[in-house]
Amino acid sequence: MPVMDHISFSSLSMFLKCGEQFRRRYECNEIIPPSASLARGTCGHKSLEANFRQKIETREDLPEEAVVQVFSDTWDAKSQEVVLSEEDVGTDSPVKVLGRFKDSGVGMVREFHRVISPKVQPAPDGVEEKFEVIFHGDLPKLLGYIDLRTESGIVADSKFVSKTPSKDNLKTDIQMTCYNLGHQVKHGAPPARLAKFFAIAGKNPTTAVFEEPARDPATLDRFLCRIEAAFKALEAGVFQPAPNDCWWCSPKWCGYWSTCKYHP
Ligand code: SF4
Repeated sequence: MPVMDHISFSSLSMFLKCGEQFRRRYECNEIIPPSASLARGTCGHKSLEANFRQKIETREDLPEEAVVQVFSDTWDAKSQEVVLSEEDVGTDSPVKVLGRFKDSGVGMVREFHRVISPKVQPAPDGVEEKFEVIFHGDLPKLLGYIDLRTESGIVADSKFVSKTPSKDNLKTDIQMTCYNLGHQVKHGAPPARLAKFFAIAGKNPTTAVFEEPARDPATLDRFLCRIEAAFKALEAGVFQPAPNDCWWCSPKWCGYWSTCKYHP
């Protein structure tokens, strides 16, 4: 593979999870339509972004119905692309299933807005802040966007999930290590803390907030070693398939499953 000028963290993250998935997506340009839960998360994210962007200036949250409206409008457009799995559909009609996902997303947005948003004051330029990590040698630049940086220096990511995450979720999250690195490069210092905000689906949606100290230098070094190994594999055109026993190598989580020659 020719040496790239840059790589986004999201595509690098796909490569780290499964080289074959990366090859299908970025080498063969096979774009898989989003699942309903992924689309719900994307639309939820848009609604939070609309609120937090304006809150930099106003220091006040939008009315709840305005945030729900952003979710609803985004969902109505995005849900046209969604491909439902057999597990999603069950015995219901696709229209009913999509309606169910929309309703659950609305409930999650409301709960997030009620419980988490009032405690968050984004810093100036602290919403979807771009960063670039430039390495020595002819390695590609690493590009990314930090979801949210608060006035108190916390770097945070928001997720819309179906199940309550485990307590270790933030500790082992490589995306948060990358945000930490991006903050350090952009602002010359580590973030005050790292946080993940969750809206959790359910009959009565709930939220969770996990917080951790910034990553220590040894963790950042290991992350950089991992990136360097990934760049070498990419340059050599080595697209290692995901291990057999990982959760994302499954029909539910990988859109290439039905045509993949490597899956278990
Ligand atoms: S099915 Fe498994 S090995 Fe194949 S592309 Fe998906 S994650 Fe990778």
